[in-house]
Amino acid sequence: MSSAAQMIERLRPSLGARGVLTDSSDIHPWLTDWRGKWTGRAAALLQPASTDEVADVVRLAEEYGVPLVPQGGNTSMVGGATPDASGACMLLSLRRLNKVRSIGDGVAVAEAGVILADLQATALERGQRFPLTLGAHGSATVGGLASTNAGGTQVLRFGTMRQLVTGVEAVLSGGLVHDGLAGLKKDNRGYALDQLLVGAEGTLGVITAVAVRLVPAVRDRAVAWVGLASPQQGLDLLRFLQAHTDAVEGFEILPQDSLDRVLRYIPDTRAPLTGTHPWHVLIEATSTSDRAQAPGPLLQNLLAAALDAGLLADATIAASDTQAEAFWRIRHSISEAEKRDGPALQHDISVPVGAMPRFMIEAAAAVEKAFPGTDASGFGHLGDGNVHFHVRAPAHGAAAWMEQEGSAASRLVHDLVTEAGGSISAEHGIGQMKREELQRLSSPARLFALGAIKRAMDPHNIFNPGKLID
Ligand code: FAD
Repeated sequence: MSSAAQMIERLRPSLGARGVLTDSSDIHPWLTDWRGKWTGRAAALLQPASTDEVADVVRLAEEYGVPLVPQGGNTSMVGGATPDASGACMLLSLRRLNKVRSIGDGVAVAEAGVILADLQATALERGQRFPLTLGAHGSATVGGLASTNAGGTQVLRFGTMRQLVTGVEAVLSGGLVHDGLAGLKKDNRGYALDQLLVGAEGTLGVITAVAVRLVPAVRDRAVAWVGLASPQQGLDLLRFLQAHTDAVEGFEILPQDSLDRVLRYIPDTRAPLTGTHPWHVLIEATSTSDRAQAPGPLLQNLLAAALDAGLLADATIAASDTQAEAFWRIRHSISEAEKRDGPALQHDISVPVGAMPRFMIEAAAAVEKAFPGTDASGFGHLGDGNVHFHVRAPAHGAAAWMEQEGSAASRLVHDLVTEAGGSISAEHGIGQMKREELQRLSSPARLFALGAIKRAMDPHNIFNPGKLID
């Protein structure tokens, strides 16, 4: 009997029929990543229902030398939760650990498999809010969000998962359970273990529960659409708004051609402004108390002042919640519209915030010059210094271009990012997609430290091998 088969036999009594699935019809739906780029194989799909069961799985995986691929909602953008093609791994789904264990004042403890939308809804029932949100909120899990240090659209005000996680419970090598859920404000017992697991992409252990910060629920919000001349004008506008209020929590930039593609391919969308502008920003401002200035009039006055100061060309504020959602729908449809338009290379990159406007213009020009016929532009979280920098293939022979030139074009983008002091992964992680680029472009110090931590925390190399770093 193979070691995987022996491990399965040992697990069945404790995990039960729902906990150990070996039928290919059960496993198959979870073997391909969200983008459809990678498909792997797995000897079994394990679905433990408690931290103790996860610990049993980890102990046996080490005993039999069977690698585990932790998986939440399987929405990774970098193939992080997809096993390799060998069939030697087992998928370790955390989706049955789906209880919100507690909600207190300003803190919630959620098990790893709790879906983001469910955590948001549960917090709202108690008049509170979990502020991180992103397009995959109906599938992504708390464990996956923590493991990728996810960002999203409200980072400007509330930070990434790293700033929102106050403690982690995780199963480490040997089946040892680290319990950091107390969420202590002060704790200097050496290395920050909880934060080490945030962004580890399942390579150091298995997160079973997370304590997160909650903020007061939104009482009122305003969403504006602004037309402007350049990304630099966008950043100047953001600085102007931030100098007058701390109510701005969303600030997303997009070029006119991204807007055009959405209007062309996504039904029931219309341009928020009459006339075209080289660049656009979507702004969201919120208030959480009735003592605060209402965000609608606040944004209106500030945008009028910004217009007078030459910081924008045109602006409108959504007249209703429906219109506000329509503005956000444009933002969230950019990738979908692009997909329908033809193949594109996608890069989730960051540079220092102040350097981003120049980077967006100069990098696009450099890529288009080096690869004639391509069309490059960035959109997204300007205020975080993070844009999704996409390079669309030349219209003729796009598939062949992607095959022959795609890697070289991506390498150029990553070279430019590195020269600008930035990161080749701002919020999606490394997974299996960016491993080679991480090796090529990281400093010896970074590679030394990442490798040493991995070897120390995962001596049997069973936690998501082939992802991030060996
Ligand atoms: P999975 O995809 O299942 O796993 C992701 C990684 O975490 C894998 O390496 C996996 O092994 C590991 N992992 C999962 N659960 C655990 C666990 N319990 N313990 C240890 N390791 C674990 N990301 C952003 O940051 N910002 C965005 O704006 C954004 N928008 C998105 C929009 C769409 C439409 C989609 C599909 C994805 C988007 N993402 C975004 C990426 C994705 O949602 C995040 O990476 C998310 O955090 C992954 O959660 P998940 O539960 O699906 O994890």
